Amino acid sequence: MGYEVKDFNTANRPTWCPGCGNHAMFEALKRALVELGWSKEEFAMFWGIGCHGNGSDFHDVQGFHALHGRSLPPAIAYRLTRPDQRVIVEMGDGDGYGLGLGHFVHACRRNDDLTVIAHNNQIYGLTTGQASPTTDHLMKTVSTPSGVLEQPINPIGLALAEGASFIARGFAGDIPHLTQLYVQALTHKGFALVDVFQPCVTWNKLNTFGWFRERVYKLDEMDWDTSDRSKAFDLSLTTFHDLTCTPESCRVPIGVFYCEEGQPTYEEATPASQEPGFVHAEKPRDVSELMMRL
Ligand code: SF4
Repeated sequence: MGYEVKDFNTANRPTWCPGCGNHAMFEALKRALVELGWSKEEFAMFWGIGCHGNGSDFHDVQGFHALHGRSLPPAIAYRLTRPDQRVIVEMGDGDGYGLGLGHFVHACRRNDDLTVIAHNNQIYGLTTGQASPTTDHLMKTVSTPSGVLEQPINPIGLALAEGASFIARGFAGDIPHLTQLYVQALTHKGFALVDVFQPCVTWNKLNTFGWFRERVYKLDEMDWDTSDRSKAFDLSLTTFHDLTCTPESCRVPIGVFYCEEGQPTYEEATPASQEPGFVHAEKPRDVSELMMRL
């Protein structure tokens, strides 16, 4: 069955703030799924905690809303036991690069076969504006009234250093471009990261859509070599920014930083995971008797 974008909506209307970058990311993912022609039964989604995690109510897909920072462990377990399934993980910057950072690093180095989409708004939006691991250096937030002292986490550099095989950055202000990044990530075999600058219009008054529009440029419009991990790492270091970052001094590349096909995945090296540890139930599944017992 061919799906349309609207078929991936539940009856729940998104509750994200008007103008939030999450709306654009939701739209881009649905467009990518339609373009790929994926049926709802061939993939599953996993969310962590944060504004992005509310998306579990809005996507009409099979999925699981995990604890804070813990979207990756159940996703990895699911992928290991369901070799017939593709897996999409959505996480926030506070969620995935904070509490969940250890899971992220180890998934990169295992080259787990899944796609991770990071909603990187550089702030804790759901909990009303505290500094997150990717908040700009010196930015004042409700939890850092004198400014953030630490340097922000570099998700692209981290994924490159730890062995992920597809690493890209998107911007929620460009849905067609983001859609194509998703299509590439979703069809990549191995660990694919799409870190998306997703402005939080309510709590981050610095890194706005306008701020990014003045700074982003597309790697795919340049002669960028996506096979050079060292060069990609150097590029990832150029985009740290702070309050003095002008459009001229701080240019933000978006697109595919690095892609390596054919790198062994953890699943391929785990023979037990090659065979499904389940038997398909007959469809449609009638779970009413089970529910009565519960
Ligand atoms: Fe989006 Fe920020 Fe509102 Fe959360 S608080 S829904 S991230 S704009």
